[in-house]
Amino acid sequence: MSDPADLTIVEAAAALRSEDLTAVELLAAVRRRAAMTEANIHAYLTIDVEGAEASARAADDAFAGGEDRGPLQGIPIALKDNMVTRGLETTASSQILAGWHPPYDATVVTRLRDAGAVIVGKTNLDEFAMGSSTENSAYGTSRNPWDPERVPGGSSGGSAAAVAVGSALAALGSDTGGSVRQPASLCGVVGMKPTYGLVSRYGLIAFASSLDQIGPITRSVADALAVLQGISGHDPEDATSYRGELPDFGSQIDRGVEGLKIGVVSELSGEGTEPAVAAEFRTMLQRLEGAGAEIKELSLPSTAYALSAYYLIAPAECSANLARFDGVRFGLRLDGGTVEEMMGATRAAGFGPEVIRRILLGTYALSAGYYDAFYGQAQKVRTLVIDDFKQAYEQADVLVTPTSPTTAFKVGERTDDPLAMYLSDLCTIPSNLSGDPGISVPTGVDDAGLPIGFQVLAPALAEPLMFRVAQAVEDLAGFDARPTLASSEGAA
Ligand code: GLN
Repeated sequence: MSDPADLTIVEAAAALRSEDLTAVELLAAVRRRAAMTEANIHAYLTIDVEGAEASARAADDAFAGGEDRGPLQGIPIALKDNMVTRGLETTASSQILAGWHPPYDATVVTRLRDAGAVIVGKTNLDEFAMGSSTENSAYGTSRNPWDPERVPGGSSGGSAAAVAVGSALAALGSDTGGSVRQPASLCGVVGMKPTYGLVSRYGLIAFASSLDQIGPITRSVADALAVLQGISGHDPEDATSYRGELPDFGSQIDRGVEGLKIGVVSELSGEGTEPAVAAEFRTMLQRLEGAGAEIKELSLPSTAYALSAYYLIAPAECSANLARFDGVRFGLRLDGGTVEEMMGATRAAGFGPEVIRRILLGTYALSAGYYDAFYGQAQKVRTLVIDDFKQAYEQADVLVTPTSPTTAFKVGERTDDPLAMYLSDLCTIPSNLSGDPGISVPTGVDDAGLPIGFQVLAPALAEPLMFRVAQAVEDLAGFDARPTLASSEGAA
């Protein structure tokens, strides 16, 4: 058998059941891969050596005892470090949470553990998930496995890099404005954002609560389905959690695209898209057409303003959510004469520059006198975006765009230009504003060998349709390239 670290979940699940592989061996393979790649890639902030070993042994005991909790049993999965884990340091890549050991598990963590998954560790991100490259982490930048001089994308860059190199078989990320899909695209793996409310946010460190959603990063569409099935469902601990019956996410996955109407969003696939990305996108459209889909060009005019609206709404919500980090309850505390001085000093020292920029932007947008002009206006644009999607879905079953207008950019290339960085999220942000699901599937590489992702968007709760089209895209692309791993074993 090839190195078990390179298996998909579906393949590993079969091997674990045919007794070709044990969960302990699978974890060991993943840990060897981490030892080989971490010095170059820095996907992880924390590796839970003992906890993971205990879970892997428990999974093997369960198999031996005939207990089978489904496809995630014994599978090594990594978590973005903004999901709280009982007793295991959780920092959200911020200095302000350095050394914080949460007293409870996030609901997604509980669900993964209940499904028998093995939590490998916590992955790097942009501080509090604010960014598109992991360069805003207080603990160093993660690197793109396809070219370590480039970023893995963000904010779930560590999760995407870990899955791409094989230091986890799958990972969870959070997607507020594209942070699962964009890094997945830049790292050549699958990333999926579920319909808002399908996955509990209890224990996800909040960034912008009306947008945040946890989603899987995997090596295949079928794996994304398996992880989503494991983590979704109503949770009384999250007031925004969906209460209705869940759709059968995989019910249409093998049906192909024959007879489906696929809408191309003109505003999100034209100007500003790198030529190689545009060419790859068009090739896939032709293949989908060849497979029997009808391709329609559609205009969603308000999506042109989605980015601007997002960069008011997300900071506004973050300015409220991050008020809790005050030096009293969590993590860092700096001394100060008065309580106010202590809080001020703690926040000034604990938050990085991008987080401070967002808090200031958000506080300004919400302040008396400016509220209507900025926050109120942005909410109106959000409604227009939602209406645009509704109309588009009357004409097409799903919508498609490139996931990111460019392939992975160089470390440092956009750090001095926040607006250029924000543009990375152009194609992913509209569906966060609408709350609809989206998935990025890798389809090819550019001239420099950097991966390109294809995004499929669907109406709320239409995950079955989204997976169906995504599976067809994966099959038509036949993309099975993997990054060449520059071994850093023995490196300091
Ligand atoms: N890059 C976007 C931002 O900086 C999206 C982040 C995210 O989805 N968490 O806000």
